[in-house]
Amino acid sequence: MASVQTVTGTCALEDLGRTLVHEHLLVGYPGWQMDALAPRFDRREAYRRAVDMLVQVREQHGLRTLLDPCPMDLGRDVEFMAEVSQASGLQIICTTGAYFEEQGLTYTFRNLPLDDIAAIYEKEITTGVGETEIRAGAIKVATGSHRVSDYERKLLTAAARASVRCSVPIITHTQEGTCGLEQIAILTAAGVPAGRILVGHSDGIDDPAYHRRIVAAGAFIGFDRLGIEVILPDEIRLRNIASLVSDGHGDRICLSHDACIGAWLGRPIFAPETPIDPSQIALLLPNWSPLHLFTRVIPRLRELGVSAAAIIKMTDENPARWFGAARG
Ligand SMILES: [Zn+2]
Repeated sequence: MASVQTVTGTCALEDLGRTLVHEHLLVGYPGWQMDALAPRFDRREAYRRAVDMLVQVREQHGLRTLLDPCPMDLGRDVEFMAEVSQASGLQIICTTGAYFEEQGLTYTFRNLPLDDIAAIYEKEITTGVGETEIRAGAIKVATGSHRVSDYERKLLTAAARASVRCSVPIITHTQEGTCGLEQIAILTAAGVPAGRILVGHSDGIDDPAYHRRIVAAGAFIGFDRLGIEVILPDEIRLRNIASLVSDGHGDRICLSHDACIGAWLGRPIFAPETPIDPSQIALLLPNWSPLHLFTRVIPRLRELGVSAAAIIKMTDENPARWFGAARG
């Protein structure tokens, strides 16, 4: 029987259930500790906030699994994930992999051979992250805006090797909804079946032709920044989802928010109006929460003509099909 690695053990593919494919418990950009003006990180408070929210989404909306694709260099804390998973009753999956060149912590991987980076990813997948026995269940790759750098290409190729050897799927970060097709080309050229790739943040651009090229290539497409309306209004995202579904591509779409559920480490540098206090994010992005899909997005998709069955496909079936493609 096919299984998926979570931070607390393995889970049968059919037990993944309703899944959010891209949410974070903690996020901190490299060097966040240097920002002495930012509020102090309170781990207990972050833990309580994350557990409260995940219990709510589980009990009220039937969520069973959450993938936190935090790259190694963005404050990834797999022990925090395991603690939150145990307390909330939600299955959580972590990833190996690193962020894109402009915003990641690049010095070490720039200087390591590609083979060693692939071996590091494999180590995190097969034996665990650091000294823990918490194993990654997927690989994260990332590219910058409009162009894939040599560094990013090297990390994508390393990820492809680890994916082929360990049979785990690949989730991507794209910047401004660009380079998804280049990611697919690099990964598939290195042997990864396209159905094992989820091109993340594809909702960062209002370009239906781009969306169709991604699904035509056989990859999954992430409309995974629901509620981040400083990038694009949700209404545009939802119209693009409805149009993909009506064109018969509903079996390729995964939905999520890229929300930060526990805490920002340092100040949240992601928008022009960067607030110094993370509690101010809610004022800037009132809908940026794992509840948003269930309370506002799904009712609006129904109004736009998306059937209940098509919604279940996106929330419950496609994530398992993506993980299943890695096992098949
Ligand atoms: Zn993310």
